[in-house]
Amino acid sequence: MYTPYKHEPFTDFTIESNRQKFKEALEKVNSLLGKDYDLVIGGERITTEEKIVSINPANKEQVIGRVSKANQELAEKAMQAAAEAYKTWRYWDPEARAGILFRAAAIVRRRKHEFSALLVKEAGKPWKEADADTAEAIDFMEYYARQMIELAKGKPVQSREGERNQYIYTPMGVTVVIPPWNFPFAIMCGTTVAPIVTGNTVVLKPASNTPVIAAWFVDVLEQAGLPKGVVNYVPGSGSEVGDYLVDHPLTALISFTGSRDVGLRIFERAAKVHPGQYHLKRVIAEMGGKDTVVVDKDCDIELAAQSIFTSAFGFAGQKCSAGSRAVVHEDVYDQVLNRVIEITEQQIVGDPENYETYMGPVIDQKSFDKIMEYIEIGKKEGRIVSGGKGDASKGYFIEPTIIADLDPKSVIQQEEIFGPVVGFTKFKTFDEALEIANNTEYGLTGALITNNREHIERAKREFHVGNLYFNRNCTGAIVGYHPFGGFKMSGTDSKAGGPDYLILHMQAKTISEML
Ligand code: GLU
Repeated sequence: MYTPYKHEPFTDFTIESNRQKFKEALEKVNSLLGKDYDLVIGGERITTEEKIVSINPANKEQVIGRVSKANQELAEKAMQAAAEAYKTWRYWDPEARAGILFRAAAIVRRRKHEFSALLVKEAGKPWKEADADTAEAIDFMEYYARQMIELAKGKPVQSREGERNQYIYTPMGVTVVIPPWNFPFAIMCGTTVAPIVTGNTVVLKPASNTPVIAAWFVDVLEQAGLPKGVVNYVPGSGSEVGDYLVDHPLTALISFTGSRDVGLRIFERAAKVHPGQYHLKRVIAEMGGKDTVVVDKDCDIELAAQSIFTSAFGFAGQKCSAGSRAVVHEDVYDQVLNRVIEITEQQIVGDPENYETYMGPVIDQKSFDKIMEYIEIGKKEGRIVSGGKGDASKGYFIEPTIIADLDPKSVIQQEEIFGPVVGFTKFKTFDEALEIANNTEYGLTGALITNNREHIERAKREFHVGNLYFNRNCTGAIVGYHPFGGFKMSGTDSKAGGPDYLILHMQAKTISEML
C-alpha cells in the first residue's frame, strides 16, 4: 500500500540552515553552468551543431547551458522512436509505470534545492517561487502515480444476466508535449509524466527559454528506470519542429501550455487529418488568463491588499493565473490602492539569487519590450501610481507597476500582459463587479475578497472562471487540492493536478462477454 497523497511542503527559508543549504545548491549549479546538453531520442544522445543557448534572465551574459537543437529530420526520428517504444510501454503493468514516477519523485526530492537553484538561474525565479515550482513537480509525480493505480482498476458498469461487462482505460499513442517556460519544472514535469504513466509515449519539446531544467529531468526519468524511447527530448523552434510534431500523422495527443495564439494555432492544425492518420487528434491546451481580484465593500482591507499584491507580482506576474486586474468597490478603492502601493514599494526587486529579493527579472527581451509597450499604453489609459520603469542593460528588470483608474474595457484591463503590471478599476454595485470580472475573453482564475456571504454564493454561480478563490490570492494552485485549468480562451479546462486529468490521456474501452 502507498501512503496517501499529500503535497510536498515548501521550504522555510527563515531557518538559517535551510538558507545555507540553498546557497550551497546555488554554488553547485554555478559550477555546472555553460555545459552542453544533447537531444535524447530512443535513449540515444545526439549532438547537433546548432544550439539553443539558455541564458540567465537576471544576467544576460551568463550562459546556463547550450542545448542541441532538433531539425525536422530529428523530430521524425523522435516520432519513430516514440511509436516504437509505445508498442511495449502501453502494455506495461500500470503499477510498474507508476513505480517509475515514485522513484523519479524520490530522486528529485533528494536533490530538491539543486533543481530549485537551477530555476533561479534559468528562469529568474526568486527562491520561494523556485522552491514551489520544484515542490509542484514532485506533487505531480506523486499524485498521478497514485491516480493511475486507481484508474487501472477501471470503472464499474452494470452487467445483465448472462454477460460480463467491463469498462477500462487504454492509452492513446504518441503524445507531443510542449510546456511553458514560466513553470519550467512543474508544468514540464506534470505534462510529461501524465501521458507516460497512462501508457503513452512522449516527444518532449521543452520551452526554448528553459531547456536545461527539462534535460535534467529527462536524466532523472532515465535514472528512475524509464525505458528508452518512452520520453524523447527534442528542443527546437516552434515553427520548424513544433508544427512538424503537431501535424505528424502518428501524433495521437498534444499537450500544450503557453500563449493563447500558439494554443489556437495548435488546436487548428491538430484538426487536420494527414495521410496515413487513422484517428482524430486530441488537444489539451492551457492558455492565457486575464484574472481578476474583486474587492467588495465589506472586506478585510489588509487581506485585500495582500491578495492583490501577491496575485499580481508573484514571479513578476508571469503566471497565467496572475491577478492582473483589481476591481475594487468605490468606498474602499483609495484605501486598498494606497495599501497595495505601500506593500509593493517595500519589496526588493533585483537578482533572484539573493534571498531578500521578492521579484526578479522577466524572461527575455521580447517579453521586456512587450511589457514596456503595455506600460506606455497604461500611461495613456490610466494613472501610473507606482513603478513604470524598466532596465534591460544587465537583465530584464521591470518595476512592479500599478496603474489606477482604468476603464474595464481598456487594453490594460483586457489583454494578457504576462508581466508585473496590475490595473485598478472601480465599481459601484456587485452586479457591476461580476460583469467586469466576466468581461474578458479569458476565464482562468479569479478571487473575491469579501465578508458578504450572499456575494460569495452569487460568485460561486456567476463568476465564470476555472479556479475561483475566496478571501485569498488567485495564484498558487496546489496539486490534488486545487485542480487547475480554465474556461473560454484560457483553454480546454483540463484540470492539471485534478481527479479527471489522467483520463484525458486515455480512451475508454467497453468489453462485453457472453457467459
Ligand atoms: N498553476 C499556477 C498557479 O496556480 C499557474 C500556472 C501557469 O501560470 O501556467 O498559479
